[in-house]
Amino acid sequence: MNLYNIKHPTEQVSFAQAVRQGLGKDQGLFFPETIPQLHNIDELLALPLVERSQKILGALIGDEIPTDKLNAMIENAFTFPAPVAKVADNIYALELFHGPTLAFKDFGGRFMAQALATVRKDGKITILTATSGDTGAAVAHAFYGLENIEVVILYPKGKISPLQEKLFCTLGRNIRTVAINADFDACQALVKQAFDDEELRQIIGLNSANSINISRLLAQVCYYFEAAAQLTAEQRQNLVVSVPSGNFGNLTAGLIAKTLGLPIKRFIASTNANDTVPRYLQTGEWQPHATVATLSNAMDVSRPNNWPRVEELFKRNGWHLSELGSGALNDAQTETALKAQYAQGYLCEPHGAIAYQVLSEQLQAGETGLFLCTAHPAKFKESVERILDIELPLPEALDKHNKLPLLSDEMDADFAALRAYLLK
Ligand SMILES: *Cc1c(COP(=O)(O)O)cnc(C)c1O
Repeated sequence: MNLYNIKHPTEQVSFAQAVRQGLGKDQGLFFPETIPQLHNIDELLALPLVERSQKILGALIGDEIPTDKLNAMIENAFTFPAPVAKVADNIYALELFHGPTLAFKDFGGRFMAQALATVRKDGKITILTATSGDTGAAVAHAFYGLENIEVVILYPKGKISPLQEKLFCTLGRNIRTVAINADFDACQALVKQAFDDEELRQIIGLNSANSINISRLLAQVCYYFEAAAQLTAEQRQNLVVSVPSGNFGNLTAGLIAKTLGLPIKRFIASTNANDTVPRYLQTGEWQPHATVATLSNAMDVSRPNNWPRVEELFKRNGWHLSELGSGALNDAQTETALKAQYAQGYLCEPHGAIAYQVLSEQLQAGETGLFLCTAHPAKFKESVERILDIELPLPEALDKHNKLPLLSDEMDADFAALRAYLLK
């Protein structure tokens, strides 16, 4: 698989290089040079998730990774299902929250960890990242137990929910977590300082394993096929997919699935009040506002970093951006949507509620709608309980960690101290 840097198309890399490097020159995103057309979609849809995903990713990545290795990576990464649930007449939910951290980022994160473990060079690898909550958990669980890969996660002490903290600070082994006596921005600044320290980088093999790594997106392509496989051939004729969007990685993956030949009539990009993209699609002007905090905080992004990949896909396929639907909901509308879903008999959380509501407003007669449920309702327990006036039991995956002791170290926001800690 060859990829190029969207900002500097002459910079070309293999899949292995793209996975190791993450970003290209000038922070440019890597993008596949070609995306094959799959001609046996119905046969693929008849296969189980893992087997089908092995064929899809095999076609995308090509012979750069031996088939048996790639197959093992997928088997190790995709260890949980992605069921489709009926929510209303003609509207279905794709539940992506049955993984170890109960969020869809488990798919991309776990495959990225497997990919990195496969294409790594000799020597030590240290994954260093800062988190304000969820991404840290997905990274920690994805890399947990992998050999010769150390993970260090910084987070602002006392500023993430106790439940979130328990989910990734109780693992041990190759996962070290550090509570920093400062805010999230200070944690991010420390990470940046570490990456700017060339000597440190070399010694400990620093890698960011961040959210723009191409391997994440490739993994996410697979669950769009899994959704289609659970619908009837007739429903697939006129399928409209609504994606709750923040950095737009999820939507990018869906567009790659369509490019591969999966029959999806159109997509809808659904956002919260951070609505840079819906406004852009309406006015043609890219004008990010300051990011605002919302109930659907994993989508509190006003400069979505995967957007150049979305535009590249439209351009390369000869599609027009006017074919992309969009909609944005504020918090009050999100609450109304969550209640409406609950009244239909479906318990959701704010991100999925936004995708559902925008979909149901824009779905036309004869179409089948699918929206992505990106997190388990219990991950947004406080909001969901307040809005719906219910009590949510803790799912087993969270409860298990909740009972374990915290293993975090504590540190001031002091780079010299962090440097010594990383070298220890
Ligand atoms: C990350 C995240 C999103 C946004 O996904 P993008 O790929 O960044 O658009 C939506 N919902 C939840 C729960 C998330 O964690």
